[in-house]
Amino acid sequence: MTKEAYDYLIVGSGLFGAVFAHEAHKRGKKVCVIDKRAHLGGNVYCKEIEGIQVHQYGAHIFHTNDEAIWNYVNQFVAFNNYINSPIALAKGKLYNLPFNMNTFYQLWGVKTPAEARIKLQEETERYGTQSPRNLEEQALSLVGKDIYETLIKEYTEKQWGKPATELPSFIIKRLPVRLRFDNNYFNDRFQGIPVGGYNRLIDGLLAGVETRVNTDYFADRAYFDALADKVVYTGKIDEYFNYEYGHLSYRSLRFETEVLDTDNYQGNAVVNYNDKTVPFTRIIEHKHFEFGTQPKTVITREYPQNWDMSKEAYYPINDEHNQHIFKQYQTKAAAMPQVIFGGRLAEYRYYDMHQIIASALKTVKMTFVD
Ligand code: FAD
Ligand code: UDP
Repeated sequence: MTKEAYDYLIVGSGLFGAVFAHEAHKRGKKVCVIDKRAHLGGNVYCKEIEGIQVHQYGAHIFHTNDEAIWNYVNQFVAFNNYINSPIALAKGKLYNLPFNMNTFYQLWGVKTPAEARIKLQEETERYGTQSPRNLEEQALSLVGKDIYETLIKEYTEKQWGKPATELPSFIIKRLPVRLRFDNNYFNDRFQGIPVGGYNRLIDGLLAGVETRVNTDYFADRAYFDALADKVVYTGKIDEYFNYEYGHLSYRSLRFETEVLDTDNYQGNAVVNYNDKTVPFTRIIEHKHFEFGTQPKTVITREYPQNWDMSKEAYYPINDEHNQHIFKQYQTKAAAMPQVIFGGRLAEYRYYDMHQIIASALKTVKMTFVD
């Protein structure tokens, strides 16, 4: 291979890399995408088991308020009308999520928004604080003690492996509180699952683009750097700089997938297990994402776990220590015009899919003058 065989070498075939690759290819650029995994698509990859699209790296539900992003993904694959409405199993009872009139009825027997408002007010006035300093105080101020202790505290501490008093409050702000009978987990205008799974979206984005799987950039970075004019790097930013300012920390997950000889195990795609006595946080029954009617079913139990270098890095730890390390890498990255750093690992940020696509399209706009 001669020097600069490509305009862009893209490290990582997740949504960031795939969107960038698609847009560069569309503009006549020569592009090669490499991925160290055995498949394309990064964390949205699905594996077909028993005719069911199994989300290999955790449940992925596409949602956005941005019509342009919605139209963008719909160019490549049709989306179904799936609406995420998880169920929570806590202390032997089922509850609807997010916190809405159904949940308030199940918890307190209140039947109208006025009754629920009074109950919520009592709870938050009694247990809340003016300026919450951590997740526990934030939750108590938002919904009070009853909901906090039933549905939040144990789930959160299991998920993050830390007391809620040591976690940042923004984690819980993601969950809406509604005085309507509405179990839609998201507030966004557009939502769904790609018909036939996420691989169709990735295949559409990467059509006509050269790709290589089982290919680790760090196996021979001098060789890969010499292949292209520019590198788009979507792996871990600390790894790129050889950990010179230290390691960034993550929270990891372990997935345990099982095929069951029944057509319907739990009647819903997502059931959360909120009690600390259960070691997993949720069970995903994949067929319900696509209203599947297959004779068997596939379920995945999701176990949170501490992260180390041998495990997948899923959630960045947004504390001061890690942000301080990240800022140093970010400054170094900003001084390297020949490398574009993007995606959740290079930006050390929890991004939903629509945000990753928006971020990749913004990078495209800054890179190419159309
Ligand atoms: P990734 O998908 O991680 O892709 C990065 C790729 O780079 C990987 O394939 C990796 O193998 C490759 N790579 C890394 N280093 C190297 C190297 N050295 N050489 C070669 N290749 C390399 N978002 C939603 O919108 N809705 C959801 O419901 C949702 N659920 C989620 C559930 C879980 C459990 C998790 C963890 C995330 C969820 N997300 C969800 C977020 C979503 O997964 C991300 O927004 C998106 O997948 C990020 O894309 P990316 O390209 O930045 O990263
Ligand atoms: N959460 C909770 N109880 C639940 C579901 C979520 O306390 O039944 C909290 C928990 O702290 C979690 C956060 O809300 O980390 C965000 O949950 P979400 O399901 O939005 O995030 P995901 O884990 O899917 O990224």
